[in-house]
Amino acid sequence: MAVIRDSSSIRVEDGTATVRGWVQDIRNMGGISFLTLRDRFGTVQITMPKKKIDPGLFGLLTKLPRETVVSVTGEVKASNQTALGLEVIPASAEVFSEAGVPLPMGVIDKVNVEMDTRLNNRFMDLRKPEIKAIFELKSMMVALIEEAVRENGFTQVFTPKISAAGAEGGAELFKIKYFDKDAFLAQSPQLYKQILMSTGLDRIFEIAPAFRAERSNTNRHVTEFISFDGEMSWIENEEQVMAMIEEIVDHVLVGLKEKGKRQLEILGKEIRVPARPYPILTYSECLKIVNEGGLSLKEGDDLGTEGEKIVGDRMAEKGVDLYFIAEYPEEAKPFYIMEKDGTPYSFSFDLDYRGQEISSGGQREHRYDRLVARMENKGLNPEDFAFYLDAFRYGMPPHGGWGIGIERLLVKMLDLPNIREAILFPRDPSRLSP
Ligand code: ATP
Ligand code: MG
Repeated sequence: MAVIRDSSSIRVEDGTATVRGWVQDIRNMGGISFLTLRDRFGTVQITMPKKKIDPGLFGLLTKLPRETVVSVTGEVKASNQTALGLEVIPASAEVFSEAGVPLPMGVIDKVNVEMDTRLNNRFMDLRKPEIKAIFELKSMMVALIEEAVRENGFTQVFTPKISAAGAEGGAELFKIKYFDKDAFLAQSPQLYKQILMSTGLDRIFEIAPAFRAERSNTNRHVTEFISFDGEMSWIENEEQVMAMIEEIVDHVLVGLKEKGKRQLEILGKEIRVPARPYPILTYSECLKIVNEGGLSLKEGDDLGTEGEKIVGDRMAEKGVDLYFIAEYPEEAKPFYIMEKDGTPYSFSFDLDYRGQEISSGGQREHRYDRLVARMENKGLNPEDFAFYLDAFRYGMPPHGGWGIGIERLLVKMLDLPNIREAILFPRDPSRLSP
């Protein structure tokens, strides 16, 4: 028998195996006891007929507290009673780390544990296969994103997360002490991405934390998230940026459906891959839909969570999961977005996924004078942004880009109820630990 699971924890050669993992459960049935040992890939059954096992070993293995970490060596037998098709009859065992009693929360019990309890004991929560699967998928998702952008000639960059100025300034910035100065945690790599467009790198991406001092306690906001940002030069319009995002997101959906099969099965989820191209609605069209849906928004108003949801419902009726909302009012968008001359609109867009924004992007203003004017119109002092503006004074190609919240994408893809489900150790206004 040669069963070698794709981990070092189950190796069967010549009928003997050593299995290592966490004691998930022990059932003592009188003459026979069963220990379910869990590792990264699943469970294996340790079967202990009392009469055939050394009494000392039997005593040890049948009294271990749940979640104790052990190694068990023994004879492997074929079994049609277990999922793996085999069981191990122990000959020896080693206890690496005995678990305390009681556990802060159960791993296999089917009781509903509050999210707070789960997050407070995240190390334990993550022992559940269906929780671990989310993070295996997240890892695959990031790999697929990188694959797609590299394929398209993007260079990975790392911009500072401690800075003297924020991209958009204001209340969303975390202020920190930087020796004897004040500094801020980056809310986005926006300004640096754009500076890099003046260098000839042409296409760059970054996957890194972004920080937002948002007090909002919602299921889609956290104070630290992973932002996937891209910026590309020589574009003629923002639709080229949309096309790039679409290609990347499609690559992720198709790839995850295939590579994440095992994890998706554990989660009981299916990934839908939408037809391309994704529809493009304009902001004005959305405003109409939203108002038909019962809200009364005026031209220029933010669509808001409720508005986004109404548009999402309308698109769902048409079987559309992913769609762009383009041409937002210039006023609603940051200074670095390019205006659509002669209109109140701009060359900006969001990508929404079933009623929720997962990305914002657009064509940027690359003309120095226009950029300075936009800053001033928005009440910002260009002198505060000199390090950024300098890059526009000595040759800047037309460019555009996007920012995608990695966790927002994952949450929508897997239809999870809360963004915190997609973050190992989430940060929000009331959570700073673990
Ligand atoms: P929202 O209006 O939904 O709060 P936003 O428009 O303020 O988002 P952007 O500044 O456009 O966000 O950031 C780009 C992307 O980063 C968003 O589309 C979203 O995917 C992600 N993102 C922004 N803020 C958060 C947050 N607080 N938590 C998680 N992801 C976020
Ligand atoms: Mg946005």
